[in-house]
Amino acid sequence: MNFHVLTLFPEMVSGCLNTSILGRATEKGLIAFDVINIRDYTLERHGKVDDYPYGGGAGMVMQAEPIYRAYEALKEKIGHKPRVVYMTPQGQVFSQKIAEELAKEEDLVFLCGHYEGIDERVLELIATDYLSAGDYVLTGGELPAMMMIDCISRLVPGVLNNDVSAEFESFHDNLLEYPQYTRPEEYMGMKVPEILLSGHHANIEKWRREQSIIRTLERRPELLKDANLSKKEQQFLDRLLADRKSKESGVDETSD
Ligand code: SAM
Repeated sequence: MNFHVLTLFPEMVSGCLNTSILGRATEKGLIAFDVINIRDYTLERHGKVDDYPYGGGAGMVMQAEPIYRAYEALKEKIGHKPRVVYMTPQGQVFSQKIAEELAKEEDLVFLCGHYEGIDERVLELIATDYLSAGDYVLTGGELPAMMMIDCISRLVPGVLNNDVSAEFESFHDNLLEYPQYTRPEEYMGMKVPEILLSGHHANIEKWRREQSIIRTLERRPELLKDANLSKKEQQFLDRLLADRKSKESGVDETSD
Protein backbone atom coordinates (compact mmCIF):
# COMPACT_ATOMS: atom_id res chain seq x y z
CA MET A 1 0.00 0.00 0.00
CA ASN A 2 1.32 3.44 -0.92
CA PHE A 3 0.77 6.50 1.24
CA HIS A 4 1.35 9.90 -0.36
CA VAL A 5 1.41 12.92 1.94
CA LEU A 6 1.00 16.41 0.49
CA THR A 7 2.39 18.87 3.03
CA LEU A 8 4.25 22.14 3.52
CA PHE A 9 6.27 20.51 6.32
CA PRO A 10 7.72 17.22 5.01
CA GLU A 11 10.28 17.04 7.81
CA MET A 12 7.42 16.69 10.32
CA VAL A 13 6.15 13.59 8.58
CA SER A 14 9.23 11.71 7.31
CA GLY A 15 10.90 10.95 10.66
CA CYS A 16 7.75 9.63 12.24
CA LEU A 17 6.89 7.23 9.43
CA ASN A 18 10.33 5.66 9.24
CA THR A 19 10.51 4.32 12.79
CA SER A 20 9.42 1.18 14.64
CA ILE A 21 6.76 -1.07 13.10
CA LEU A 22 6.10 1.23 10.14
CA GLY A 23 9.83 1.54 9.43
CA ARG A 24 10.18 -2.25 9.34
CA ALA A 25 7.09 -2.61 7.15
CA THR A 26 8.61 -0.11 4.72
CA GLU A 27 11.86 -2.08 4.63
CA LYS A 28 9.88 -5.23 3.86
CA GLY A 29 8.10 -3.39 1.02
CA LEU A 30 4.64 -3.88 2.54
CA ILE A 31 3.95 -0.16 2.65
CA ALA A 32 5.63 2.84 1.05
CA PHE A 33 5.63 6.53 1.91
CA ASP A 34 5.98 9.37 -0.47
CA VAL A 35 6.17 12.74 1.27
CA ILE A 36 5.58 15.54 -1.21
CA ASN A 37 6.50 19.13 -0.47
CA ILE A 38 3.72 21.32 -1.85
CA ARG A 39 6.16 24.24 -1.95
CA ASP A 40 8.12 22.46 -4.72
CA TYR A 41 5.12 23.05 -7.00
CA THR A 42 4.61 26.78 -6.60
CA LEU A 43 5.17 28.98 -9.62
CA GLU A 44 5.45 32.08 -7.46
CA ARG A 45 8.70 33.73 -6.46
CA HIS A 46 10.32 32.94 -3.10
CA GLY A 47 8.34 29.71 -2.77
CA LYS A 48 5.12 31.51 -1.83
CA VAL A 49 2.22 29.11 -1.27
CA ASP A 50 -0.36 31.13 0.69
CA ASP A 51 -2.15 34.45 0.61
CA TYR A 52 -4.67 36.59 2.49
CA PRO A 53 -8.28 35.39 2.60
CA TYR A 54 -10.73 37.13 0.28
CA GLY A 55 -13.30 38.97 2.35
CA GLY A 56 -10.79 39.63 5.13
CA GLY A 57 -10.22 37.81 8.38
CA ALA A 58 -7.28 36.46 10.33
CA GLY A 59 -4.42 34.34 8.97
CA MET A 60 -3.41 33.04 5.58
CA VAL A 61 -4.99 30.53 3.22
CA MET A 62 -3.03 27.93 1.22
CA GLN A 63 -3.33 28.63 -2.49
CA ALA A 64 -4.93 26.23 -4.94
CA GLU A 65 -2.30 26.18 -7.69
CA PRO A 66 0.70 24.49 -5.96
CA ILE A 67 -1.58 21.85 -4.46
CA TYR A 68 -3.25 21.14 -7.78
CA ARG A 69 0.11 20.90 -9.56
CA ALA A 70 1.49 18.55 -6.88
CA TYR A 71 -1.62 16.39 -7.25
CA GLU A 72 -1.38 16.33 -11.06
CA ALA A 73 2.29 15.27 -10.89
CA LEU A 74 1.42 12.50 -8.46
CA LYS A 75 -1.51 11.33 -10.58
CA GLU A 76 0.76 11.10 -13.59
CA LYS A 77 3.41 9.22 -11.62
CA ILE A 78 1.07 6.55 -10.28
CA GLY A 79 -0.99 6.37 -13.47
CA HIS A 80 -4.47 6.73 -12.00
CA LYS A 81 -6.75 9.11 -10.09
CA PRO A 82 -6.12 8.38 -6.40
CA ARG A 83 -8.38 8.82 -3.41
CA VAL A 84 -7.44 12.14 -1.76
CA VAL A 85 -8.23 12.55 1.91
CA TYR A 86 -8.24 16.13 3.16
CA MET A 87 -7.37 16.47 6.85
CA THR A 88 -9.89 18.88 8.33
CA PRO A 89 -11.72 19.43 11.61
CA GLN A 90 -14.82 19.77 9.41
CA GLY A 91 -14.59 16.15 8.25
CA GLN A 92 -16.05 12.90 9.50
CA VAL A 93 -14.23 11.82 12.66
CA PHE A 94 -11.73 9.05 11.87
CA SER A 95 -12.50 5.60 13.28
CA GLN A 96 -11.34 1.99 13.07
CA LYS A 97 -14.19 1.33 10.64
CA ILE A 98 -12.99 4.08 8.29
CA ALA A 99 -9.42 2.75 8.62
CA GLU A 100 -10.61 -0.72 7.57
CA GLU A 101 -12.28 0.72 4.51
CA LEU A 102 -9.28 2.87 3.51
CA ALA A 103 -6.86 -0.05 3.99
CA LYS A 104 -8.33 -1.62 0.84
CA GLU A 105 -6.87 1.12 -1.38
CA GLU A 106 -3.64 0.67 -3.31
CA ASP A 107 -2.77 4.40 -3.13
CA LEU A 108 -3.99 6.94 -0.61
CA VAL A 109 -3.22 10.65 -0.64
CA PHE A 110 -3.31 12.66 2.57
CA LEU A 111 -3.65 16.39 2.00
CA CYS A 112 -2.47 18.41 5.00
CA GLY A 113 -3.67 21.96 5.47
CA HIS A 114 -1.97 24.65 7.54
CA TYR A 115 -2.69 28.23 8.62
CA GLU A 116 -6.40 28.97 8.05
CA GLY A 117 -6.81 26.05 5.68
CA ILE A 118 -6.91 25.56 1.89
CA ASP A 119 -8.61 27.44 -0.96
CA GLU A 120 -11.96 25.71 -1.36
CA ARG A 121 -11.67 25.42 -5.14
CA VAL A 122 -8.78 22.96 -5.13
CA LEU A 123 -10.61 20.86 -2.57
CA GLU A 124 -13.60 20.73 -4.90
CA LEU A 125 -11.28 19.58 -7.66
CA ILE A 126 -9.27 16.87 -5.93
CA ALA A 127 -10.57 15.91 -2.46
CA THR A 128 -12.59 12.69 -2.34
CA ASP A 129 -12.84 12.38 1.47
CA TYR A 130 -12.84 14.83 4.39
CA LEU A 131 -11.57 13.34 7.64
CA SER A 132 -11.00 14.79 11.10
CA ALA A 133 -8.82 13.64 13.98
CA GLY A 134 -11.51 14.77 16.41
CA ASP A 135 -13.58 17.75 17.44
CA TYR A 136 -10.71 20.13 18.15
CA VAL A 137 -8.53 22.38 16.00
CA LEU A 138 -4.83 21.70 15.40
CA THR A 139 -2.26 23.90 13.64
CA GLY A 140 -1.89 21.52 10.69
CA GLY A 141 -3.04 18.28 9.11
CA GLU A 142 0.31 16.51 9.52
CA LEU A 143 -0.37 14.96 12.93
CA PRO A 144 -3.83 13.69 11.89
CA ALA A 145 -2.35 12.27 8.67
CA MET A 146 0.39 10.43 10.60
CA MET A 147 -2.14 9.14 13.08
CA MET A 148 -4.40 7.81 10.32
CA ILE A 149 -1.50 6.33 8.32
CA ASP A 150 -0.27 4.56 11.45
CA CYS A 151 -3.70 3.08 12.08
CA ILE A 152 -4.31 2.04 8.44
CA SER A 153 -0.81 0.53 8.08
CA ARG A 154 -1.45 -1.86 10.97
CA LEU A 155 -4.29 -3.34 8.92
CA VAL A 156 -2.11 -4.11 5.91
CA PRO A 157 -1.43 -7.87 5.92
CA GLY A 158 2.05 -8.65 7.26
CA VAL A 159 2.70 -5.28 8.93
CA LEU A 160 2.03 -6.64 12.40
CA ASN A 161 4.06 -9.73 13.21
CA ASN A 162 0.96 -11.43 14.43
CA ASP A 163 -1.95 -10.78 12.08
CA VAL A 164 -4.58 -11.83 14.61
CA SER A 165 -3.52 -9.12 17.03
CA ALA A 166 -5.27 -6.38 15.02
CA GLU A 167 -8.37 -8.53 14.81
CA PHE A 168 -8.90 -8.77 18.56
CA GLU A 169 -8.06 -5.24 19.54
CA SER A 170 -10.27 -2.44 20.75
CA PHE A 171 -13.13 -1.50 18.40
CA HIS A 172 -13.19 -4.91 16.79
CA ASP A 173 -16.87 -5.92 17.11
CA ASN A 174 -17.39 -2.42 18.61
CA LEU A 175 -15.91 -3.55 21.93
CA LEU A 176 -12.86 -2.29 23.83
CA GLU A 177 -10.07 -4.76 24.44
CA TYR A 178 -9.95 -6.85 27.64
CA PRO A 179 -7.20 -6.07 30.24
CA GLN A 180 -3.74 -7.39 29.37
CA TYR A 181 -1.08 -8.79 31.76
CA THR A 182 2.51 -9.93 31.43
CA ARG A 183 5.23 -11.21 33.79
CA PRO A 184 5.56 -11.22 36.79
CA GLU A 185 2.53 -13.13 38.03
CA GLU A 186 2.34 -10.88 41.09
CA TYR A 187 3.14 -7.16 41.12
CA MET A 188 2.83 -4.98 44.24
CA GLY A 189 0.52 -7.57 45.74
CA MET A 190 -1.72 -7.66 42.65
CA LYS A 191 -2.09 -11.07 41.03
CA VAL A 192 -2.75 -11.88 37.38
CA PRO A 193 -6.31 -13.29 37.11
CA GLU A 194 -6.11 -17.04 37.76
CA ILE A 195 -7.93 -17.96 34.56
CA LEU A 196 -5.14 -16.55 32.39
CA LEU A 197 -2.72 -19.04 33.94
CA SER A 198 -5.07 -22.00 33.47
CA GLY A 199 -4.08 -22.80 29.87
CA HIS A 200 -7.79 -23.44 29.14
CA HIS A 201 -8.20 -21.53 25.88
CA ALA A 202 -11.98 -21.63 25.62
CA ASN A 203 -12.42 -20.33 29.18
CA ILE A 204 -9.80 -17.65 28.62
CA GLU A 205 -11.56 -16.54 25.43
CA LYS A 206 -14.93 -16.40 27.26
CA TRP A 207 -13.39 -14.43 30.15
CA ARG A 208 -11.77 -11.97 27.76
CA ARG A 209 -15.00 -11.35 25.85
CA GLU A 210 -16.81 -10.74 29.14
CA GLN A 211 -14.08 -8.36 30.31
CA SER A 212 -14.40 -6.52 27.00
CA ILE A 213 -18.12 -6.13 27.55
CA ILE A 214 -17.63 -4.91 31.14
CA ARG A 215 -14.95 -2.46 30.09
CA THR A 216 -16.96 -1.11 27.16
CA LEU A 217 -19.98 -0.64 29.42
CA GLU A 218 -17.84 1.28 31.93
CA ARG A 219 -15.84 3.42 29.52
CA ARG A 220 -17.65 3.70 26.19
CA PRO A 221 -21.24 2.47 26.70
CA GLU A 222 -22.42 4.11 23.46
CA LEU A 223 -20.38 1.54 21.48
CA LEU A 224 -22.47 -1.34 22.79
CA LYS A 225 -25.53 -0.55 20.72
CA ASP A 226 -23.64 -1.72 17.60
CA ALA A 227 -21.55 -4.41 19.30
CA ASN A 228 -21.44 -7.81 17.69
CA LEU A 229 -22.51 -10.06 20.61
CA SER A 230 -23.55 -13.68 20.69
CA LYS A 231 -26.82 -14.57 22.39
CA LYS A 232 -24.95 -15.62 25.56
CA GLU A 233 -22.91 -12.42 25.56
CA GLN A 234 -26.06 -10.34 25.14
CA GLN A 235 -27.51 -12.16 28.18
CA PHE A 236 -24.30 -11.39 30.10
CA LEU A 237 -24.66 -7.70 29.20
CA ASP A 238 -28.33 -7.72 30.18
CA ARG A 239 -27.36 -9.12 33.59
CA LEU A 240 -24.73 -6.39 34.02
CA LEU A 241 -27.27 -3.72 33.14
CA ALA A 242 -29.85 -5.21 35.51
CA ASP A 243 -27.24 -5.33 38.33
CA ARG A 244 -26.29 -1.76 37.67
CA LYS A 245 -29.92 -0.67 37.68
CA SER A 246 -30.64 -2.40 40.97
CA LYS A 247 -27.49 -0.86 42.53
CA GLU A 248 -28.52 2.59 41.31
CA SER A 249 -32.04 2.24 42.66
CA GLY A 250 -30.54 0.96 45.96
CA VAL A 251 -28.44 4.14 46.18
CA ASP A 252 -31.48 6.28 45.38
CA GLU A 253 -33.51 4.61 48.15
CA THR A 254 -30.83 5.28 50.78
CA SER A 255 -30.35 8.88 49.65
CA ASP A 256 -34.11 9.67 49.85
N1 SAM B 1 -9.94 27.40 9.77
C1 SAM B 1 -10.12 25.99 9.77
C2 SAM B 1 -11.49 25.64 10.31
O1 SAM B 1 -11.98 26.34 11.18
O2 SAM B 1 -12.04 24.62 9.88
C3 SAM B 1 -9.05 25.31 10.62
C4 SAM B 1 -7.70 25.43 10.04
S1 SAM B 1 -6.50 24.57 10.99
C5 SAM B 1 -5.87 25.85 12.00
C6 SAM B 1 -5.23 24.29 9.84
C7 SAM B 1 -5.20 22.92 9.24
O3 SAM B 1 -4.99 21.97 10.26
C8 SAM B 1 -6.47 22.47 8.54
O4 SAM B 1 -6.51 22.89 7.21
C9 SAM B 1 -6.40 20.96 8.64
O5 SAM B 1 -5.65 20.42 7.58
C10 SAM B 1 -5.62 20.76 9.94
N2 SAM B 1 -6.47 20.37 11.08
C11 SAM B 1 -6.74 21.11 12.17
N3 SAM B 1 -7.51 20.45 13.02
C12 SAM B 1 -7.73 19.23 12.48
C13 SAM B 1 -8.48 18.09 12.89
N4 SAM B 1 -9.16 18.05 14.02
N5 SAM B 1 -8.48 17.01 12.07
C14 SAM B 1 -7.81 17.02 10.90
N6 SAM B 1 -7.10 18.08 10.46
C15 SAM B 1 -7.06 19.18 11.23
